[in-house]
Amino acid sequence: MIDQFGRRIEYARISVTDRCNLRCRYCMPECGVEKIPHDEILTFEEILRVVKIFARLGIKKIRLTGGEPLLRKNLPALIRDIKNISGVEIVTMTTNGVLIEKFAADLIAAGIDGVNISVDTLDEKIFSSLTRRKFFANVLRGLKILLSYGKNIKLNCVPLRGVNEDDVLKLVELARENFIDLRFIELMPIGCAIDSKLEGIPTAEIFSLIESHCGKLYPAEKKFLQGPAEYFRAENFIGRIGFIDALEHKFCGTCNRIRLTAEGFLKPCLNFGIGLDVKNLLRSGVDDEKIFTAIERTIYYKPREHFFNLKNNLCDERKMYQVGG
Ligand code: SAM
Ligand code: SF4
Repeated sequence: MIDQFGRRIEYARISVTDRCNLRCRYCMPECGVEKIPHDEILTFEEILRVVKIFARLGIKKIRLTGGEPLLRKNLPALIRDIKNISGVEIVTMTTNGVLIEKFAADLIAAGIDGVNISVDTLDEKIFSSLTRRKFFANVLRGLKILLSYGKNIKLNCVPLRGVNEDDVLKLVELARENFIDLRFIELMPIGCAIDSKLEGIPTAEIFSLIESHCGKLYPAEKKFLQGPAEYFRAENFIGRIGFIDALEHKFCGTCNRIRLTAEGFLKPCLNFGIGLDVKNLLRSGVDDEKIFTAIERTIYYKPREHFFNLKNNLCDERKMYQVGG
């Protein structure tokens, strides 16, 4: 469907859990994490009911996220069932990669169309310090397995000054040799990132660093339902290099996405707390038409921009792991 600013909304990110097996400094607190009670999290049946309504509204792509989505029991079964919903063309997942080795075969069998893995560093020590957990080897094994399946793979890296700067060019080498999309995402001033004392590195700086190493970057072709990243290719690279220029909110004008939190709150924009309590509607006994109309209205009024620098009572207090990125 088309929102009030003429944007075609075709992509929903659905968080299936707020639990995570890492504690990335920019995303989750080290301890004292408040967990959503299990019965407050949408069941698979509820998620499927919402996705059917999304599909009627023109949503073609679903990305499952979290927390860590692979911590949700039977996730491959959910993927398979979403794939069977008429109108849904692409089902993908964003994961930290820790559990990929355990589930890769089931995910492929379920028909997953692509996987994003968050890999901020290729250095074990930096990984342990940034994520506060010792799962680096698991992530590397998971990544290798996925590469061997040759699925549509995206690597996400949030460049942080004084933390993983040296990883930028190491990750770029992966895109030289592998058929992947490597994306650099600017640190967003949301949740734990605000108090973490971590400093994101602006896209322009990363772009120049890569060009000084690999030569000129050329704009790459656009893919179906591509999202906010702008992609480039370097000479003799198999993979593409993408940039998500979050802070300049250049991508808001073409934003095609909505988000559903694990507890069933529909967010039309990442930074704003406004939206729709879909779980409440699902559990109130109303029919699908009522829910359809409420979701349609919420999407129509999607805000024009994220206004990250604006901090007022309209902004969402949820942390990234509660929203799904
Ligand atoms: N646990 C999964 C993972 O890490 O991929 C999925 C959820 S995580 C919230 C989704 C994405 O959000 C990750 O790529 C992570 O790096 C990114 N993210 C979390 N906090 C962020 C922030 N403050 N700014 C930019 N990206 C952030
Ligand atoms: Fe967990 Fe992903 Fe957040 Fe890291 S970024 S703490 S892996 S939800």
